[in-house]
Amino acid sequence: MLDLYRVEDLLTPEERAIRQAARRFLEAEALPHIRDWWEAGTFPTHLIPRFAELGFLGPTLPPEYGGAGVSSAAYGLIAYELERVDSGLRSFVSVQNSLVMYPIFAFGSEEQKREFLPKLARGEMVGCFGLTEPDGGSDPYGNMKTRARREGDTWVLNGTKMWITNGHLAQIAILWAKDEEGVVRGFIVPTDTPGFKAVEVKRKMSLRASATSELILEDVRVPEHLRLPKAEGLKAPLSCLTQARFGIAWGVLGALEAVYEEARAFVKERFSFGEPLARKQLVQEKLAEMLAWHTEGLLLAWRLARLKDEGKLSPVQVSLAKRQNTWKALQGARLARELLGGSGITLEYHAIRHLLNLETVYTYEGTHDVHTLVLGREATGENAF
Ligand SMILES: Cc1cc2nc3c(=O)[nH]c(=O)nc-3n(C[C@H](O)[C@H](O)[C@H](O)COP(=O)(O)OP(=O)(O)OC[C@H]3O[C@@H](n4cnc5c(N)ncnc54)[C@H](O)[C@@H]3O)c2cc1C
Repeated sequence: MLDLYRVEDLLTPEERAIRQAARRFLEAEALPHIRDWWEAGTFPTHLIPRFAELGFLGPTLPPEYGGAGVSSAAYGLIAYELERVDSGLRSFVSVQNSLVMYPIFAFGSEEQKREFLPKLARGEMVGCFGLTEPDGGSDPYGNMKTRARREGDTWVLNGTKMWITNGHLAQIAILWAKDEEGVVRGFIVPTDTPGFKAVEVKRKMSLRASATSELILEDVRVPEHLRLPKAEGLKAPLSCLTQARFGIAWGVLGALEAVYEEARAFVKERFSFGEPLARKQLVQEKLAEMLAWHTEGLLLAWRLARLKDEGKLSPVQVSLAKRQNTWKALQGARLARELLGGSGITLEYHAIRHLLNLETVYTYEGTHDVHTLVLGREATGENAF
């Protein structure tokens, strides 16, 4: 792993072993094929059971729910290794863990946890998380038109969700809707419920190796026992996003390592004006920036993981790490693409794929500017949303 400041020395042997196992597996079974999957616009569903076997699904959850009880850094390192291959692979795992298993774990009843978490951990069931709607994602409460109307022991859901990762692969959807009092409620909705439709979003130029869908809900009837009983108000889905952003803060550094190493190898081999590009100051400056951003980002991610395990994590800390690391990874991918010259625009190299993927990561899970406003509010006490 690219690790100038020896962050690996700060990890436990178990955390190091988990990262190494993830890298070995992904280099053998995902990296050689990722360009083809990305170009074809498909998510490699055959990897889901393998992800489960390797413990990528629910690793931090307690064993009684199918987890392995590993540390947050171990989970972060899994995200890192997945995104070193492709942001789409990391997105699949982020959604399954942070946006499906976490809300069931945190807001579900004991019966819901026992019914769903082990199946999700074994990869026998895939989930998705529907918060964003067509009118806009940055203001999820203001733009939420999806409604849940209660009829006795049943809730009737109507509305549309947009940009939902894993939507048309999923067997269950965690859906957020306003009740008749305007309170946001969460529901576990089997996707074969009558009135539920998932439509694939096509022609994406980013995150092509990830399934993205529109969800259409027409009188979808959900029994009360599938409502998440402890979720009340927008803070419930927002807390899931905090979990997912934690994984992103780690994951994007994997993408940054990938593009850095690719550009570094290229400039050592390629000659211009009689010497390797690596000997040119302007070329070195770009690599120096990338190395510095990766180093800063890894220290931030490591500290964030330890704060999380100590129960001291605050959403603003996660906002800062998601914002900085994603922004730097995106800039790094642009620099790597530039260093590769014309070759950098083809899928033969990884830089352009990571660059295009990172445009999504820059926007989802709170856009860069939304996190800027979170930090601005922290600095000034003024809400500028
Ligand atoms: C590939 C992909 C996968 C996704 N997966 C999921 C998923 O699984 N589940 C889910 O629920 N959502 C998902 N999303 C949605 C994602 O979270 C939203 O795209 C994101 O929240 C931004 O919402 P929006 O696209 O509607 O943009 P908008 O909210 O309309 O924002 C448009 C622009 O306005 C800016 N802006 C907004 N408010 C302000 C403000 N107050 N001040 C200044 N600027 C502002 C934004 O920064 C942005 O640049 C996914 C998105 C993508 C692209």
